[in-house]
Amino acid sequence: MTDQQQGAGDAAAGSGGAKDFIRQIIEEDLAAGRHETVVTRFPPEPNGYLHIGHAKSICLNFGVAEEYGGRCHLRMDDTNPIREEEEYVEAIRRDVRWLGFDWGEHYYHAADYFEQLYEYAVMLVRRGLAYVDSQGQDEIRAQRGTPTEPGVESPYRNRPVAENLDLFERMRAGEFPDGAHVLRAKIDMAHPNILMRDPVLYRIRHVAHHRTGDAWCIYPMYDFTHCLSDAIERVTHSLCTLEFENNRAIYDWVLDNLPVPARPRQIEFARLNLTYTVLSKRKLMRLVEEGHVAGWDDPRMPTLCGLRRRGCPPAAIRAFCDRVGVAKRNSIVDVGLLEHAVRDELNRTSPRVMAVLDPLKVVIENYPEDLVEEFDCVNNPEDPGAGTRRVPFSRELWIEREDFREDPPRKFFRLAPGREVRLRYAYLITCREVVKDDAGRVVELRCTYDPATRGGDAPDGRKVRGTLHWVSVPHAVDAEVRLYDRLFSVPHPEEDRERDFVELLNPDSLRVLERCKVEPLLAGAGPGERYQFERKGYFCVDPETESAGRPIFNRTVTLRDSWARIEARMRS
Ligand code: ATP
Ligand code: MG
Repeated sequence: MTDQQQGAGDAAAGSGGAKDFIRQIIEEDLAAGRHETVVTRFPPEPNGYLHIGHAKSICLNFGVAEEYGGRCHLRMDDTNPIREEEEYVEAIRRDVRWLGFDWGEHYYHAADYFEQLYEYAVMLVRRGLAYVDSQGQDEIRAQRGTPTEPGVESPYRNRPVAENLDLFERMRAGEFPDGAHVLRAKIDMAHPNILMRDPVLYRIRHVAHHRTGDAWCIYPMYDFTHCLSDAIERVTHSLCTLEFENNRAIYDWVLDNLPVPARPRQIEFARLNLTYTVLSKRKLMRLVEEGHVAGWDDPRMPTLCGLRRRGCPPAAIRAFCDRVGVAKRNSIVDVGLLEHAVRDELNRTSPRVMAVLDPLKVVIENYPEDLVEEFDCVNNPEDPGAGTRRVPFSRELWIEREDFREDPPRKFFRLAPGREVRLRYAYLITCREVVKDDAGRVVELRCTYDPATRGGDAPDGRKVRGTLHWVSVPHAVDAEVRLYDRLFSVPHPEEDRERDFVELLNPDSLRVLERCKVEPLLAGAGPGERYQFERKGYFCVDPETESAGRPIFNRTVTLRDSWARIEARMRS
């Protein structure tokens, strides 16, 4: 880990420890009687799919509302008609629900406040606190100044109120083309915070909006919309990420200068960053549009729909967010921590099954040709309530090709010529002969079994070190398995100064195995079901299974848990 990578959250954050700084503020506010009910909101812009970074914000906003008996609103922050689409709105609602949160009746759209926002803007104009600027975007930008030099006042800054009112009304009425005028707050062109140098509040955009259609051709900017939407909804604590720290001055200025029904407070926290991942919607959009992945829900994507399709349980994502905690300082979390949370949850909840990913045939020469025995197999050793299932065993079996070595290295305890191993739940078998094709490739192993070892134990107590999983050949179900690895091959794909992030994609992030054999139970496996393939990892049934005519499994994570090892090392 680099020193800027964050492990198990800051000492002051995460579950179990002391309260994080946001919860401390909320408790102080409640103790001081500043609010009766805590009201938060999650305000996504519907211009892309939600990702694991949004999950942190969702868990925080819905989490604190729940903890303090308040409520959390879901608000589409939909003031930009150009990039927003209904498709994203639906996906966002689905993903928040899937994560396990419920906004009840508190579902809102910033666009539904357009009329009220317009009235507030008119009030600012009447109070001499806003004016119509008729300069172009470039001139306005050129006059902004720098952190060390003040900006230049617009020649339109001192337009009389009546003229401003008239122009603003005609902007709304559609009399002017895009860019002809903007409405600006009249604050201070020499303000040390550049964002306070007469920020633009409204611009003209003759574009239809996904919700309001052609009703508007002027659209309010984020800094004007967000604080007022919060106030209209009587939000108490408006939690956002650190990049909005400088915008807080505008947030407060707008609310201080208008007769708003409530006075929300903006508090910033560090956004989530993950190693081997990109989390900006713009970059995720590029991955989709340029075809580097199969879509927003490609199981390698850090989107919530991608994680869902990959098989990550929502409880694991919540546990991960809890573990990461909230802090004031930006950091990069090791993706191993997410994988650890996923394994932890799946270990407790997913049924075990046997599946052979790269099959090699074993024929047990002394096993009766037409005999089929059924063995009781434990569904989940972590959950006694999960019970057992019966798995058929017969003379011909599939085992994993990598579980056999003709010339075994030291410490290889699995099958080899003359060697005895255990077939899990079944018998001890010994390899007697190796059958090869013309090219010299091993195609079959001829073995014998010891009938006295039924269940897998030798009555004489002889030691057998290897235990293999298996699937009976006549009962096996054909399946496809998709093995996923990290999407990027470097830990910090966004920090490379020389190369574009798409050049850092891991070429081996997807491997498709089309000839897998799984136990008969899985013939009817439905999309979204999760299993542990013994010795292989955790897998989830892909939605394409429905049309494929055979099950398709996505590997969620491997069994190996390097995070647990890292932690053990840190403790010792
Ligand atoms: P992106 O930077 O990926 O384009 P965004 O911030 O523009 O994302 P929004 O839809 O505006 O995306 O985000 C909705 C909410 O989620 C905001 O409050 C934002 O601060 C929060 N959020 C977005 N990304 C993260 C992240 N990586 N970690 C924590 N919160 C985030
Ligand atoms: Mg945003």
